Amino acid sequence: MNIKNIPFIDLNRTEAGFKERVLERWEKSLEEFSFFAGQGVQDLTSKFKNLTGVNNFIPCANGTDALQLALRASNIGAGDYVIVPELTFWASVEAIYNVSAKPIFIDINPQDLQLDFELTEQAILKHKPKAIILVHLYGWCSARLADFRELAKKHNIKLIEDGAQALGTKYNNQDIFAGADIITTSFYPAKVLGASGDAGAICSQNSEFANICNSLANHGRQAHYGYSHIGWNSRMNELQACFLAEAINYFPQRIQSRLDILEKYNNINNNKFSLLQPPAETQQNGYLQVSLSNSPDSSEIQNKLKSLGINTGKVYPSVMSSQPALSNNSDLIIISPNKIAEDICQRVFNLPLFPYMTNDEINYIISSSGEC
Ligand SMILES: *Cc1c(COP(=O)(O)O)cnc(C)c1O
Repeated sequence: MNIKNIPFIDLNRTEAGFKERVLERWEKSLEEFSFFAGQGVQDLTSKFKNLTGVNNFIPCANGTDALQLALRASNIGAGDYVIVPELTFWASVEAIYNVSAKPIFIDINPQDLQLDFELTEQAILKHKPKAIILVHLYGWCSARLADFRELAKKHNIKLIEDGAQALGTKYNNQDIFAGADIITTSFYPAKVLGASGDAGAICSQNSEFANICNSLANHGRQAHYGYSHIGWNSRMNELQACFLAEAINYFPQRIQSRLDILEKYNNINNNKFSLLQPPAETQQNGYLQVSLSNSPDSSEIQNKLKSLGINTGKVYPSVMSSQPALSNNSDLIIISPNKIAEDICQRVFNLPLFPYMTNDEINYIISSSGEC
């Protein structure tokens, strides 16, 4: 077999006719000179609602803005604390600072690698945060998502779920978006539903909240020249909406392709690393494959796979509180008694996983994994 270079991700494996249909939509938008809030946004909105079961879908410019809009609409600002996991993408942290609030970094649970429930409960009592950013990492979620949702209600704290990696994920057989009060997402090209550039969205069951997000994303507008909030410009570009309105038609088959590949990876026979499985309560969407090396550092395995022509990933190489951007902050609140996230950052790596990988590629990865 001649497979010399399997990429970690290849976004260019689209369905037959997909690009042509995107071009048709783009052409129409150009003919109509309709560049914002046009047919693309309308189609995407209704298709997204159908797919997930959310009541309100607010399109915006990207996933980081979606978090910031949700925080702003929740009245989170200067002097407020927001809980965030130590293991996530940096944007979940940036959003907190960008609204002038402060993060409380909390360790992950060693079983599901999501925000730890008990540590969160303790932090709420001690630090009285105004919000929690609960990140659904890796395409699954905490085994205790229902408890998190209840906990936030009990303490009257805003629970903002970061669903950038969790479109199509289910919790106890319910779409994770449908069950959330407030949930944000990103349509960055590499996400499970990717645009041809940047885009994002906020979803909420609460229409009043959704209206505030919508206004904030459009300069705080109430009437055309009337402003009820100080917002900014975070409108979704119509070209991205057109692309997404087409891509979403293929979403179920793309997810199925990812899950089929994950299923085949279960045939990997290896005593140097294991394939992590999500908790039984969640049905994952196949966003990332998660491997855990037995040794404290995954780099030897990754180098070996690389020498065999297989490009693996390590999407979170270090925890959030230790990022250089925060090195001058002496008053960081970090609740991480067992440093699980730090250990996981060293040990976890990701095998290639994207829709429409070929059987040859998958089989080669399975057999090569035995040689590590
Ligand atoms: C990608 C991502 C974001 C940010 O999305 P952008 O569209 O790149 O701004 C936020 N949170 C998580 C968990 C992500 O994976």
